[in-house]
Amino acid sequence: MLKVKVLTVFPEMFPGFLGYSLTGKALEEQKWQLEAVNIRDYAFDKHKSVDDTPCGGGAGMIMRPDVLGRAIKANHTGGRIVYMSPKGRPLTQKLVREFSREEALTFVCGRFEGIDERVIEAFGIEEISIGDYILTGGEQAAQIMLDAIIRLLPGVLGNEASLEDESFEKELLEYPQYTRPVEWEGRSVPEILLSGHHQKIADWRKEQAEIATKARRPDLFKKYLDSKNS
Ligand code: SAH
Repeated sequence: MLKVKVLTVFPEMFPGFLGYSLTGKALEEQKWQLEAVNIRDYAFDKHKSVDDTPCGGGAGMIMRPDVLGRAIKANHTGGRIVYMSPKGRPLTQKLVREFSREEALTFVCGRFEGIDERVIEAFGIEEISIGDYILTGGEQAAQIMLDAIIRLLPGVLGNEASLEDESFEKELLEYPQYTRPVEWEGRSVPEILLSGHHQKIADWRKEQAEIATKARRPDLFKKYLDSKNS
């Protein structure tokens, strides 16, 4: 079972949306475990301060290494430590899959302008980014990364086969999807999907996936072509 610890100044933000739907059900069924630790509990002063002004000047506040270090030492009992950070390795489905095989993960959620660099060095922390934009805090990013990880845990998704077809798993975006009614406001479902001809449907879907990927994500399409030709 995956054991997750989250170090945050907002423990009440957890499980957040992870408490809903498939991830919430999986939490209830103990397919994963969550502990949200309040970094403020490891502060040294009565104001429970966790941040201070940046050395060298500049805007904002930085999370203190002494307080954060103490929180990590008291709670980390093994496994990878991840700091959600816009400077990190970009999160990909490949990386998500890799993390879904871990037994224990500790997340450090930054606030303010981020954390003191020495903490990252001292604990060998991995930095992961969920995209090239800046959020107000790591809690949102950690929940997104966890959501992607948890749905890959054994028994969490009802239909294991649905994982395989999914966007990014095969370097192609997903084909367009339709459901009933077959006619809606003058638009019909593509006829091939109603033909019952499995091979033709599979071929059509693959073609559509290729068309979408080529148009929308030429970067992915190039990777796809390269892997097909290698
Ligand atoms: N000054 C920092 C941004 C701080 S944003 C910089 O320019 O790099 C505050 C916190 O939000 C960060 O410490 C980080 O934990 C989280 N965060 C912001 N954007 C993120 C992203 N794209 N991916 C992951 N975490 C992010």
